[in-house]
Amino acid sequence: MTVTVRFAPSPTGHIHIGNSRPALFNWLFSRKEGGRFVLRFDDTDLERSKQEYAESIEKDLRWLGIIPDFIERQSRRVASYDVASQKLKDAGLLYPCYETPEELDRRRSRQRSLGRPPVYDRAGLKQTAEERAAFEAEGRRPHWRFILPNHDADPFETKRTDVTWNDLCRGEQSVDLSSMSDPVLIRADGTYLYTLPSIVDDIDMGITHVIRGEDHVANTGVQIAIFEALGAAAPIFGHHNLLTTRDGEGLSKRKGALSIGSLREAGLEPMSVASLAVLTGTSQAVEPVQDMDALIGKFDLASISRSSAKFDPEELKNLNARLVHELPYEAVSDRLADLGIEAGADFWETVRGNCETVNDAADFWQIVTGPVVSRIEDEDREFVAKTRNFLPDGEITPETWSAWTSALKSETGRKGRGLFMPLRRVLTGMDHGPDMKAMLPLIGRRNILDRLP
Ligand code: GLU
Repeated sequence: MTVTVRFAPSPTGHIHIGNSRPALFNWLFSRKEGGRFVLRFDDTDLERSKQEYAESIEKDLRWLGIIPDFIERQSRRVASYDVASQKLKDAGLLYPCYETPEELDRRRSRQRSLGRPPVYDRAGLKQTAEERAAFEAEGRRPHWRFILPNHDADPFETKRTDVTWNDLCRGEQSVDLSSMSDPVLIRADGTYLYTLPSIVDDIDMGITHVIRGEDHVANTGVQIAIFEALGAAAPIFGHHNLLTTRDGEGLSKRKGALSIGSLREAGLEPMSVASLAVLTGTSQAVEPVQDMDALIGKFDLASISRSSAKFDPEELKNLNARLVHELPYEAVSDRLADLGIEAGADFWETVRGNCETVNDAADFWQIVTGPVVSRIEDEDREFVAKTRNFLPDGEITPETWSAWTSALKSETGRKGRGLFMPLRRVLTGMDHGPDMKAMLPLIGRRNILDRLP
């Protein structure tokens, strides 16, 4: 069977670096296994789901290098969910319940005050046809619960029922169905909660592996039971740890600063975001990885640790800078052109070591082409006045810097910082930056002479 995975976001917000992890894990897994990657929008919540979010998620994934083999949305597949729910009803596995949310709340508080777990008591299952008709006559509509297979003949006599699976990230896992309420699959207004559509889709799309956050571990036992009730084998599951800040704070969808869109706008490289997202919270070192193929080589679900994946947003800047320092010219030439930089590999190779993002190259291009606000400290004024006369004749080459500074050293006796810094300041307006030996030919004779007093 072809390995098929899915990333199944609800399009109710923009994705951030935390939600990019299941997307990347599924993507890397599908590429490693020569399989398929499905992007499935879980948009059964029609009020909160928005087309603009679906579009932004697709755009963000593409930027990260994830190109789905297939895209689907649940709102188009309701007919299939109706068929599946009818099948469960016919098998007596889905039963109507007429309690209002307030009644359920009151019941749960009562159970808690008696020290009992707030598990639904299957009262709906006891109701007679007349009682149901009476509720209907009052205008009540039922919600529908799936009866968990945690009992023998009598559903009111539950017994310990462990559902186990071998999790790709967490190893042997087990959930006891006797401690759980029968899940509501259909709301009173007839719409589906996420559970049943997700399972029906996983079956119909031939999903072989479900890789998702560990916040879904508790759902997995119930889902395996529903797969079986529908006559299907459950996929293999892998639940990864969740990304948090250093102080353990979770990243909600509203954390704007860490949205993939804002990281893109800040000029970060997709591969530094992907490297951090995939390697944080694993037993591997978090380091910049140049391309997806190399990341596929490093990716290993079993190396994900059990504790949360803690990260400091500052790390991302550092990782990005390290990645940019190694980027070859061919990888950035189009983007340099977009920034209005009409330079070749020599310019990029000179400045990349001083760039935190590729966009920073624009500042160095400004220094190369000018105009530059030259800086001369008072104590250097006399020295700088002499420099023009010692600039070697002819073409400015990488050798010019050392010939020029040697001549100035002999003339003035200055050396080290006292010799180099005044020249850097007068030519670039800054007291740090790329190697002057390589900058000089880029700046060129005309600009050099213009900037010297
Ligand atoms: N829409 C669900 C979520 O975003 C999908 C969970 C799953 O992968 O099954 O949490």
